[in-house]
Amino acid sequence: MADSSSAHPSHAAGSSPGVIAYHLGAPGSMLSGSKALFHPTHEHELLRQMVAEFARREVEPQAAASDAAGALNVPLFRMLGELGLLGVTVPEARGGSGLDAVAAVIVHHELAKYDPGFTLAYLAHSMLFVNNFDNCATDEQRARYLPKTLSGEWIAGMGMTEPGAGTDVMGMATTAIRDGDSYVLQGSKTYITNACEGFCFLVYAKLDGRITAFVVDRDCPGFATSAHIDKLGMRGSTMAELVFDDCRVPARNLLGQEGDGLTHMMRNLEIERLTLAAISCGIAERCVEIMVRYADERRAFGQPLHTFGQVQRYIADGFAMTEAAKSLVYSVARDIGPEFRNRVGSDAAKLFAGPVGKTVADYAMQVMGGAGYCREYPVERLWRDAKLIEIGGGTLEAHQKNLTKDLVRALAPR
Ligand SMILES: Cc1cc2nc3c(=O)[nH]c(=O)nc-3n(C[C@H](O)[C@H](O)[C@H](O)COP(=O)(O)OP(=O)(O)OC[C@H]3O[C@@H](n4cnc5c(N)ncnc54)[C@H](O)[C@@H]3O)c2cc1C
Repeated sequence: MADSSSAHPSHAAGSSPGVIAYHLGAPGSMLSGSKALFHPTHEHELLRQMVAEFARREVEPQAAASDAAGALNVPLFRMLGELGLLGVTVPEARGGSGLDAVAAVIVHHELAKYDPGFTLAYLAHSMLFVNNFDNCATDEQRARYLPKTLSGEWIAGMGMTEPGAGTDVMGMATTAIRDGDSYVLQGSKTYITNACEGFCFLVYAKLDGRITAFVVDRDCPGFATSAHIDKLGMRGSTMAELVFDDCRVPARNLLGQEGDGLTHMMRNLEIERLTLAAISCGIAERCVEIMVRYADERRAFGQPLHTFGQVQRYIADGFAMTEAAKSLVYSVARDIGPEFRNRVGSDAAKLFAGPVGKTVADYAMQVMGGAGYCREYPVERLWRDAKLIEIGGGTLEAHQKNLTKDLVRALAPR
């Protein structure tokens, strides 16, 4: 094989030892591709720099402790509000940052390099609640909820999954009936991220058999959350059940119209899947960086590990699949927004990029041997975190079914 060392990126002066600096990326970033794809505007570039710096300075140092405790770092979460990140997709006129899906992907990508669990809490708040809420709320509702959710004073989440219905979302059993100036909800939701700390939740329930969206506050009579549900990874965020026992929700907390909850849900699932895929990209990119440095420093049989062909395969394949995942995710991000739907793109992005984080974390662990399996390095945590992307926000099988259905409809119409 030809020696291609002259084409290799150089170690950057001024960046931490061993960090690879590509000509388009900030120090420590692995952006090797098109500027137009990863940074469509100067604003996106500045956002990435800001979030990457915050993630290295504030998120990384606490990640291992939050993982061990299985707890969300609430003060750190509120710092995201100070940075304007909790309303990244909310128009500036309503107090948000007025940015797009590419910006949302950038934030998830950069935060996830250091703490995917914390990033999942951010996703549940900013995408599953704030983005969805803002797209279907009235101005009166926005005035009541946006200031405190954009600052982080109120942590929020979204309840769709039930003990008896996950993938089969139409099978949900939580019901709502109108009673005077309230709706009365009966049922429960499970695996709800931010349920332990959250004050308000966007909840789907069936009203006369039609899915309808509500905002349920912690202080609504008849509302409770279960004990924390312990989990394998993503432990920097918490989850629990939401329980509605004749839960009385003010009628003014109906989101949109009665019966149009499915439309809100399907629209928001697109940005949810895309940002979950972005988390996978962050995990994969960090694992490439760690395994390359380790393979350079660690010697066996008198040579650095990276001189062994089998190790090169893990590094090179891991890098190539990371870049492919990023390219698809950023490409789809340009075509997702409240005004245009892209279920094919978001399902494809999560179906492809979802397993990449897990695979590349596995490659990194293999390259590092016992060190990769131990807690001294973050790879074992990233490896545990990565699996969630194949399940949450829709399983791989759900994406395969959706995609096939949409492709048959588009390409083989009857
Ligand atoms: C850490 C974590 C955080 C989460 N956060 C939230 C949250 O904030 N809000 C929320 O609402 N939900 C949340 N979830 C729930 C998540 O979205 C669901 O777990 C997911 O949608 C799958 O549903 P399920 O677990 O009920 O699996 P099931 O639907 O029971 O599926 C089990 C298996 O069967 C397969 N399967 C099911 N139906 C079919 C079919 N028709 N054809 C082929 N295979 C099929 C699935 O692909 C999967 O492999 C979270 C889950 C986790 C683990």
